[in-house]
Amino acid sequence: MTKRTALTKLTPLLGNSQRLDGGAMFGNAPRAVWQRWSPPDAENRIALACRCLLVETADGRKILLETGIGAFFAPALRARYGVVEERHVLLDSLAAIGLTDADIDVVLLSHLHFDHAGGLLAAHSEGDPPRLLFPRATFVVGRRAYERAVAPHARDRASFIPELQPLLAQSGRLRLVEAPSDPALPPDFVLHESDGHTVGLLLAEVPSPEGPVLFCSDLCPGAPWVHVPITMGYDRAPELLIDEKAALWQGLASRGGLLCFTHDPETAFGRLHVDSAGRWGVVKVAALAAESEAGSSRASGASGPTR
Ligand SMILES: [Zn+2]
Repeated sequence: MTKRTALTKLTPLLGNSQRLDGGAMFGNAPRAVWQRWSPPDAENRIALACRCLLVETADGRKILLETGIGAFFAPALRARYGVVEERHVLLDSLAAIGLTDADIDVVLLSHLHFDHAGGLLAAHSEGDPPRLLFPRATFVVGRRAYERAVAPHARDRASFIPELQPLLAQSGRLRLVEAPSDPALPPDFVLHESDGHTVGLLLAEVPSPEGPVLFCSDLCPGAPWVHVPITMGYDRAPELLIDEKAALWQGLASRGGLLCFTHDPETAFGRLHVDSAGRWGVVKVAALAAESEAGSSRASGASGPTR
């Protein structure tokens, strides 16, 4: 889909997809509940996207929110982490709209877990060291998220790519930022910080004709997690995340906002709503989402948890 205002055009772009353990993805929710939202395969794994969001500004700048997991893993690790495609799918999605990684001016990363930042690297090539793509881009990372990546806790050490942080630093194009805004980004971008998933998760709120769009990254990987008690086993502080999510939903809904999901295979955009019982959910923005999501072969459909 493409959304256009006088100021910005938003295009979701699919990167590589993944299959991960459904129990780990749904934290303390029992399988009897989550299997209705995300049917598991024989190995208990569920389908996950790595969706990025391209924001093109009126002055012609191209800002890419995240890069997905990419294709940097050697074959054995690619299998372990359930990365489906061998090729670098985001590069194909960019090519489908006439762009390459060299056209991107800014890559904004919510955090540096490999399933969000791995797409910064070229596809695995046996014997070659990891190599950064996006040769012109400024790499915008939250200062606290970057510090976490450089000195991770034992619990999430395996979620980072040790070679990536030095490459970013050596590029001379790494910019460490703090909420709520930064001069490297358009003035109508608002940055929120959250600590429940990882330290300093940076959430970008960008304008669109439909209302502000929050790229909610791992605060809320897909429609089922909009219901605030639903968290991931990967979250470092689920109670904190729930409180942060509830506050962000309240604020965003008061501004008529939408969510953009990175890991939801079916839903790119959803409009927030709350029912009379106080339960949050989204209504998929179906007509727009079905229009032209680069790299997508999926039809649109209903989404969101039902119990
Ligand atoms: Zn993460």
